[in-house]
Amino acid sequence: MPQRTETDSRKLLRRLRDEMSVSRPGQERLDRITTIIAESLGVEVCSVYLFRDPDTLELCATEGLKPESVHQTRLRLGEGLVGKVAKLAKPVNTANAPAEPGFRYMPETGEDVFSSFLGVPIQRLGERLGVLVVQAKEPRLYSDDELYGLEVVAMVIAEMTELGAFVGEETSFAAPHKNQVMLRGVNAQEGEAEGQVWLHQPRVVITNLVNDNTEAELQRLNDAVDKLRVSIDELLTRAGSRDSEHQEVLQTYRMFAHSRGWLARMEDSIRLGLSAEAAVEKEQSAARARLERVPDAYLRDRLHDLDDLSNRLLRILTGQGHETGAEMPERPILVARNIGPGELLEYGRKLRGVVLEEGAVGSHATIVARALAIPLVINVSRITTEALNGDHILVDGTEGTVHLRPDDTISAAFRDKMAMQAKAQERYASLRDKPAVARCGTRIRLKMNAGLMADLPSLPSSGAEAVGLFRTELQFLTRANMPKRAELVANYARVLDAAQGKKVNFRTLDIGSDKVMPYMKRPDEPNPAMGWRALRVGLDKPGVLRMQLQALIRAAAGRPLSVMFPLVTTHGEFTRARDLLLREIERERRLGHVLPETLEVGAMLESCSLAYAPRAFFEEVDFISIGGNDLKQFFFAADRENELVRRRYDTLNTAYLSFLQLIVDRCHETGTRLSFCGEDAGRPVDAIALAGIGIGALSMRPASVGPVKSLIRRVNFNEISEIIARVQARGLESARPALLDYVAGLVD
Ligand code: PEP
Ligand code: MG
Repeated sequence: MPQRTETDSRKLLRRLRDEMSVSRPGQERLDRITTIIAESLGVEVCSVYLFRDPDTLELCATEGLKPESVHQTRLRLGEGLVGKVAKLAKPVNTANAPAEPGFRYMPETGEDVFSSFLGVPIQRLGERLGVLVVQAKEPRLYSDDELYGLEVVAMVIAEMTELGAFVGEETSFAAPHKNQVMLRGVNAQEGEAEGQVWLHQPRVVITNLVNDNTEAELQRLNDAVDKLRVSIDELLTRAGSRDSEHQEVLQTYRMFAHSRGWLARMEDSIRLGLSAEAAVEKEQSAARARLERVPDAYLRDRLHDLDDLSNRLLRILTGQGHETGAEMPERPILVARNIGPGELLEYGRKLRGVVLEEGAVGSHATIVARALAIPLVINVSRITTEALNGDHILVDGTEGTVHLRPDDTISAAFRDKMAMQAKAQERYASLRDKPAVARCGTRIRLKMNAGLMADLPSLPSSGAEAVGLFRTELQFLTRANMPKRAELVANYARVLDAAQGKKVNFRTLDIGSDKVMPYMKRPDEPNPAMGWRALRVGLDKPGVLRMQLQALIRAAAGRPLSVMFPLVTTHGEFTRARDLLLREIERERRLGHVLPETLEVGAMLESCSLAYAPRAFFEEVDFISIGGNDLKQFFFAADRENELVRRRYDTLNTAYLSFLQLIVDRCHETGTRLSFCGEDAGRPVDAIALAGIGIGALSMRPASVGPVKSLIRRVNFNEISEIIARVQARGLESARPALLDYVAGLVD
């Protein structure tokens, strides 16, 4: 490369920009771009490799290599120097390419005559798109300035790639985000929804990549950075000293915002021809690429901070962001990288669906989405970069898929599916006031799970006869600080009012594991699911539990009260918890409060040990509710949060059913009431199996009551117990195939 000036670079970027505005087929545009770059940089070869799939790079255009190798030469990620650039997301710069470790000779390209090689990743905001390579015969190492210049060009190519400029037929500057895409994720809450994208944090769309006036652009950047610094100082003052973690993050922001290196790199990019926004985004992309390579969690957090800071700067520069003035669409589907439970609650039932790039099945946001019965798909990679506000979107929370900008055929098929679901719901609604009585005459009590006031309206409409599990921790999780006792009293009283005399089993605070209250310090635990959680916390630090029990007693005020303790592991734990409650009753009596009309104290059986507790436990406890979500994870030693194993074992596994049967038998011996309140109770086939082995009450999400009731009314439990017994006697692993056959053979 001959010595280049900044003006040359700017000229090159402008030529690239102009190229975009001419209407051409994608391939022709890409060919022209490689020619322009080679010409402008004074090198013999310029090639663009793009990802064909996540593991394969394809030579898509070249100036200087043999034209017949285009679309023929392919490399796997990590293969050859090009694959190395892509894999490491780092440049490779060498004067003698064949001597470079990892070099792989590709004879069809005719590249053997070229000695020097400079390859840079084409990436946008951490997403790898391809590799841009220049080569020359002269054996020389490219200077830092040349390398930086090529990275700037790669940034522009990345934008063009994302805009689809290199695919398809004749287009002028391909309109961004126009094509339809189907993205796959993990289903976290069932249901289908159609609507328009509403981005939780709207992506800043950069429309101008190349600057026309370097000085003015430098000024814009500096003004924006000044504003950013002031805004961070203001945040720091507002945060005061009350929250040291928050302070620490802001201090890091402040440090980055004042970093000379950061600003200097962005200024360099502007001098080479980028606009201020594009310069910020280039830095952000580089930070995201580093993020992927850093194994240290602390450093990764810091790089996240830097990413966030770049976002703030982009919003200042473009005036886009939360305050864009855009109106929330009529049927909003929330799209976000991740979201906290409080924020999700703020949106509330307005949302038709939620799609998250990250998220976890057991996360608080998931719990809230479930409570609100909003279809939710998580782990949908690239959704926040693919989707724009207002895009038409279909969310299939049952399948875990998302269709963005779907065509008419897909939309029509999806609507058919939704209509069928709606019909089924109508059918279920007609069963609302009918009991869940099977053909054999056995009646199963169907109850619903709840956790928020927002759930209670579903009690009459779902057809459930009570609230079998009220997860009190949700109210704690969705707040920034510990609720006061008076607030709890008011909340529980409203729940009881809304239940209109139907029973509510209040489960005391079940925190720990994935449920973390931001305002309560927690120890770092190697395995929190088996750690200091639920009742263990309540017994060791009874302050909050006592406050909660007092609130429940006061809220009941003359009405029946039913309380159950989570994750009771031994008889002793139950006795201590119940004594605590009885002491609070006594205290309230002394204080002159009206006591509950009746009191029932239950235990959640979520660990195997409790199934083997002494008979005295079964005699003392008023009722037992099996927390199948936890019990199953402990029974199979398979973490309920871990995607790799959470679906590995079947609830209808005969070993598990035998274990549940043992619990049924023990309850039967002592006349202890037994119910099941894990997610499995809401799956119709699982539900008939649970009822078939003798569990007389099932508690589930409100939307599941109809489907479960409908199936129960069609079955005969004598036949189901026989089927299960037969499967067990034959030593089969699961009763599911036999039960599915049975269900398929039922007549309506
Ligand atoms: C369970 O573990 O089955 C349960 C109902 O409780 P949670 O899902 O809240 O842990
Ligand atoms: Mg549990």
